[in-house]
Amino acid sequence: MSELRIHPVIAALEDTIIGYRRYLHQHPELGFQEVETARYIMDQIKDADIEIFHPMAKTGLVGIMRNGHGPCIALRADMDALPIQETGDVPYKSMNDGVMHACGHDGHMAILMGTLLALDQNRSLWQGTIKFVFQPAEEGEGGAELMIKEGVLKNPDVQAIFGLHLWNYQTYGTIGVKSGPVLASADSFEITVRGVGGHGAMPQGTVDTIHVSAQLILALQSIISRNLDPLQPGVISIGQIQGGNAFNIIADEVSLKGTTRAYRPEDQQLIHTRIQEICDGIAATYGAKINIEYRDSYPPTINDPEMTEAAARAVRRVTEAGLGDPYLTMGGEDMAFYLREVPGCFLFVGSAKPHHKSSDVPHHCSHFDIDERSLALGASIFVELVQEMLPPAS
Ligand SMILES: [Zn+2]
Ligand SMILES: [Zn+2]
Repeated sequence: MSELRIHPVIAALEDTIIGYRRYLHQHPELGFQEVETARYIMDQIKDADIEIFHPMAKTGLVGIMRNGHGPCIALRADMDALPIQETGDVPYKSMNDGVMHACGHDGHMAILMGTLLALDQNRSLWQGTIKFVFQPAEEGEGGAELMIKEGVLKNPDVQAIFGLHLWNYQTYGTIGVKSGPVLASADSFEITVRGVGGHGAMPQGTVDTIHVSAQLILALQSIISRNLDPLQPGVISIGQIQGGNAFNIIADEVSLKGTTRAYRPEDQQLIHTRIQEICDGIAATYGAKINIEYRDSYPPTINDPEMTEAAARAVRRVTEAGLGDPYLTMGGEDMAFYLREVPGCFLFVGSAKPHHKSSDVPHHCSHFDIDERSLALGASIFVELVQEMLPPAS
């Protein structure tokens, strides 16, 4: 790893940043409950020359740092943990029962706090305005959307936004930067099939909702195999099905719950439309009533080409050898909401320990842990990015 160049202003703070991450790991809070988390962050950055807005989006906060004339950019970290009981044996194990930072958001906050302190103490490196966005509730509740509604991108207007995710699917030292879609849309739906129940031995006159649901589940998969461009990724998964009371009674109601994923907004829409059409068609074919509640949740996370180039230049100053495409998944991220409003780039900082294979310690698992050297690496990239986007007047 000799080719890694941790920025000197971050190297000086590395132990502090690791300390932040460990404290936050020990004190995880769920989405929109990050009260102590926000208090801790504000306490650690209280000496910085920065204007703080809190609370935003219920439990989030934004720090605005100004340094002369120049554009305004935003750096974003998410704050929430997950409802998981930690099983790993680490000295900084979660002290909150049933709650754990199993996605790396503790690290994202520590990286952003370290970046904030470094840029406050080294103002000759940059010129302009930086918004440090600490956003609650990334895991499914869409804290980003609320932050935007409450004006995080306005006054002053944010011209570009950047965020990163520690990424255990890549080893420490590798950075994934890619233009275009990097994470999928993540919608959810609930389908209720209503029919006419009856005796299992006498199906005539009934509308068997379990039979109808079986047809429906198979038909829905044809959206991916027959309607979607085979060169574009998409997923439909039914994760929950409920119906029926006994082996010899024809069920009069079945409910199905699932999620859909796509990399392009047009494919997200196509999947939505086709689910509705197939439900209507199957209902007409079998005489059932099918109701669908479809929730457009997260759009795909799409990186701007120009901002991705800027991010890649920043990464190259930290590591030439480790720069590559991210390990892509069909996971969703509410960073997508910001990137729909302003150009920016979401990048992936490899955080798996060298002896781990990419599947060993996945995100959201109960023994999730990172290679903590990735924290200084992430913060160095942020500092380089700020120098790239907000160069000081010479
Ligand atoms: Zn997560
Ligand atoms: Zn995450």
